[in-house]
Amino acid sequence: MKADLKGLDASETEQWAVSQGLKPYQGRQIRRWLFKMLASSFDEMTDLSKDLRKDLKDRVIINLLEIVNTQQSKDGTKKYLFKLHDGHFIESVLIPEEDHSTICISSQAGCAMGCLFCSTARQGLKRNLTVSEIIEQVIQVRRLMDAPERLTNIVLMGMGEPLANYDSVIRAVGNIIASDGMNFSTRKVTLSTCGLVPQIKMLGRDITVNLAVSLNASDDKTRSLLMPVNRIYPLTDLISALRDFPLPNRRMLTFEYILIKGVNDSEQDARRLADLLSGLRSKINLIPLNPFPGSDMSCPPMDDILRFQDILVENHYTAIIRKGRGSDISAACGQLSGGYNLPHPGHRG
Ligand code: SAH
Repeated sequence: MKADLKGLDASETEQWAVSQGLKPYQGRQIRRWLFKMLASSFDEMTDLSKDLRKDLKDRVIINLLEIVNTQQSKDGTKKYLFKLHDGHFIESVLIPEEDHSTICISSQAGCAMGCLFCSTARQGLKRNLTVSEIIEQVIQVRRLMDAPERLTNIVLMGMGEPLANYDSVIRAVGNIIASDGMNFSTRKVTLSTCGLVPQIKMLGRDITVNLAVSLNASDDKTRSLLMPVNRIYPLTDLISALRDFPLPNRRMLTFEYILIKGVNDSEQDARRLADLLSGLRSKINLIPLNPFPGSDMSCPPMDDILRFQDILVENHYTAIIRKGRGSDISAACGQLSGGYNLPHPGHRG
């Protein structure tokens, strides 16, 4: 089997080089080509001898993902459909903003969490992504950009639950923020979770990234209905883990709250949310529900959304209403299905 070097850290890459009869510095050279120069073939690695390049071609795999479709939204958002070597599909979304761009990447093919409002949940979990498959989404999209240096922000908010693929996600983030890796600032990498409490506790110890939590309700009854994970880790456990989460200076937790008409959008919900989060250094992203085929939930009218926001602001929270970027190409939150045809919920087994 060919070696998959993007899954290794710096010292493992040096060890691998030595195991192949190379010098440690040659391992560092290859690492630089992979992560900094975004090489797509060994032919590009011009500071390695021709013989070595030829040799490495047979021993090392560079591209694990294949882009099979690209769609561009009216607002500039781009969605990439990747095929994995075993035939599964994942999606990544590039969101250009005024002076920088954000990429939203997937951590699993499909998802096992079963959230009622999310299109990825419909297909169930296919499998975890490997370390390289997670990082390569960033590398391949960056390669295609006119100004690759503009890609400064990464959010693990695509398909899958990152903390359910804990080890690979931690290693991938490790190479994404390593100075001899992709060298992203830890301030610009955000991991979003549905609330796996044991892994949230581990995360705080293992690595520094921004944490976003998909909350979506302020009482257990509603949250358990929308997000089955809440039946295992109810709000008291979740909020208590978040109170203990180590936040570097001036950083904040992000809470995501999808607004769903008649389900979690009342004034009472807003007030209860304000109480629930009191004392947590946090900001709240309000996401009007993005509908997808086969879902019977809908987005509240704008007046209700604004009233919900007002109540949070009156309670001294930063609450921002997120525009649904890329919704015309199903690239917005909760709309990533990896190109699978979704069965209507009425026809599910
Ligand atoms: N599993 C992770 C990351 C994927 S979901 C998590 O739960 O956070 C990424 C974000 O999209 C979450 O905040 C989720 O609440 C939101 N989302 C999911 N479906 C949505 C929909 N139909 N409309 C709007 N936002 C949605």
